[in-house]
Amino acid sequence: MNALVATSRNFRYAARILGLDSKLERSLLIPFREVKVECTIPKDDGSLVSYVGFRVQHDNARGPMKGGIRYHPEVDPDEVNALAQLMTWKTAVANVPYGGAKGGIGCNPKDLTTSELERLTRVFTQKIHDLIGINTDVPAPDMGTNSQIMAWILDEYSKFHGHSPAIVTGKPLDLGGSLGRDAATGRGVVFAMEALLAEYGKSISGLTFVIQGFGNVGSWAAQLIHEIGGKVVAVGDITGAIRNPNGIDIPALQKHKSASGSIKDFNGGDPVDMNELLLQECDVLIPCALGAVLNRENASDVKTKFIIEAANHPTDPEADEILHKKGVVILPDIYANAGGVIVSYFEWVQNIQGFMWDEKKVNRELQKYMKNSFATMKEMCETHNCNLRMGAFTLGVNRVARATLLRGWEA
Ligand code: GLU
Repeated sequence: MNALVATSRNFRYAARILGLDSKLERSLLIPFREVKVECTIPKDDGSLVSYVGFRVQHDNARGPMKGGIRYHPEVDPDEVNALAQLMTWKTAVANVPYGGAKGGIGCNPKDLTTSELERLTRVFTQKIHDLIGINTDVPAPDMGTNSQIMAWILDEYSKFHGHSPAIVTGKPLDLGGSLGRDAATGRGVVFAMEALLAEYGKSISGLTFVIQGFGNVGSWAAQLIHEIGGKVVAVGDITGAIRNPNGIDIPALQKHKSASGSIKDFNGGDPVDMNELLLQECDVLIPCALGAVLNRENASDVKTKFIIEAANHPTDPEADEILHKKGVVILPDIYANAGGVIVSYFEWVQNIQGFMWDEKKVNRELQKYMKNSFATMKEMCETHNCNLRMGAFTLGVNRVARATLLRGWEA
């Protein structure tokens, strides 16, 4: 199912549970603004190449719009729109004073040299600099982008508007980034998972985990799980997948990845077919990569008790239904992966304050936000007698609806 159709379906379901007025429902669904820009750059060999960039600003009732910029070949307007909408509900679930946005460029960053990536990022920034701002819309990294790309956005934006560290989050530390931001999404996933498992009298230590994706989110989640005593029995990324029922040596895998650039050819486990990775038996399955990886084709073959959605929109609504019937408990993306945007908020606050927090404070505050959001999400589940996804959606949508109504529409 198309990501936008899926996300809007979850939103509509939540709106119905909340009894939202249909006109308000419609206004919450339509994005505040969508832009599509041409980004042409000279390649290193002098030839020209053109890409299409997007920024969708979904909603700003609760504060400046916030969300990452994705560089990936599959970036398209509907996907960016869906991800922007998810950011609106995510920031509301996390209770950080932001709205939602998302951006992207349809490109494969692995095919570009560093200087080509820099030119592309600068051209994209030139095209959107008037639409973003520290109180309007604050970008961050997402799939295929990183702190270096944020540094180029900051530099290009500052040429037009003066030095503005708070214009992006997920920056390098030397430019006003926050301690703990790099690990934040993975660490947040672990806090979220601890809160969920505690409800079932379980803890990470001693359980088995399968992790799909070994980029920023997946590798941090794997490392933290490994440190706490969880057993990661299978891991995979776009280059391949491995399995080891005795537990994969995560620090060794990380070393292998930094040396070779991928997890391929790691000899601490047996190779598994990539399509089989999500079907490996485990206690907890953590998709940390692309959307809709769990769908009607594979959902009935999944052999896990818990799914923690570290990726955005990894479970298609059809798979959601199948897994729910099988009794699999799913911790939804708009709560489970909110750690990134929560620490982005801390970074923005530090930039505005002109004061740097130590890492302990960042992690302690992150844990507090994750715990509070879990408790409020659970209350919504009880109030509306619904599953965790609808608990999170009703929580997020209700907060945005209340802010919208308070602000009113008077012209
Ligand atoms: N890209 C991340 C997400 O999907 C972080 C967004 C942010 O920090 O603004 O939540």
